[in-house]
Amino acid sequence: MLYFAHDAFAGHVTPPGHPERVERLAAVERGLQGIPVERRACPLGEEADVLRCHPGRYLERVKRAVPSEGWAQLDGDTFLSPGSYEAAMRAVGGICAAVDAVVTGEAKTAFVAGRPPGHHAERETAMGFCLFGTVAIGAKRALDHHGLNRVAIVDFDVHHGNGTQDLLWEEGRCLYVSSHQMPLYPGTGRSEERGAHGQIVNVPLRAGSGGREMRAAYERAVFPALAEWKPELLLISAGFDAHADDPLAGLEWQAEDYGWLTGKLCDFAGGRVVSSLEGGYDLEALAASVAAHAGVLEERGR
Ligand SMILES: [Zn+2]
Repeated sequence: MLYFAHDAFAGHVTPPGHPERVERLAAVERGLQGIPVERRACPLGEEADVLRCHPGRYLERVKRAVPSEGWAQLDGDTFLSPGSYEAAMRAVGGICAAVDAVVTGEAKTAFVAGRPPGHHAERETAMGFCLFGTVAIGAKRALDHHGLNRVAIVDFDVHHGNGTQDLLWEEGRCLYVSSHQMPLYPGTGRSEERGAHGQIVNVPLRAGSGGREMRAAYERAVFPALAEWKPELLLISAGFDAHADDPLAGLEWQAEDYGWLTGKLCDFAGGRVVSSLEGGYDLEALAASVAAHAGVLEERGR
């Protein structure tokens, strides 16, 4: 398994008390301890990759909003510090490099531990801690740069990936599946939301439901959709905030649920899987969940 990281992700600093904080990176590293990963530095992303999902005027707006000191605020909970633009562009560069490596057969699996996360960023709206739609940008890279025809994204973050859904609403070559607690931020993700080509599958889960209910929902609604789609590449929006200890939500998953789910997902796309970090805000739960997730990705990537 390739592991993409970069020191610049620690340069995206959020105000004191913000859940999406620099310390999450050390928790991810703790989770990876003992897993024999092949470490790579995330390159800076290309603007051309961002522009497949966001218009140029939005890219410029984010760039101009970056403060020279302190913070700038883009919405109620989305902040920019002086290092945020480089961090967001390295998250983009990381997923694109991971997609390149897996599509060309250099590696079977990859995990990108970037921040800020991406799945709430809409075409022209930064929100929910997110600036650019990292995982959607990775999917577009696979489709438009590498010429793949069928890509799938599975988003198991506890929140609905409204941004990924917005960016890929018209994209008939990418299946987007999201499981999420409902009702919960951002409020979208009803099962009736299907995309322009019926290629979006939303799987709402009720608050308090745990790993058993999650597994049943994936067996019923997600694995059959993936089997039918036959993706050539599977991307994962890997948020770990459905864990029972997470402070932002109320699903009751355990670390082993992430291991089970990751193994099942590796059965698709010939095992070509690129995973990208989204949420996960209890540091111990994040470390344990990353350990379960990456442990399976490493094992299956051999
Ligand atoms: Zn989340």
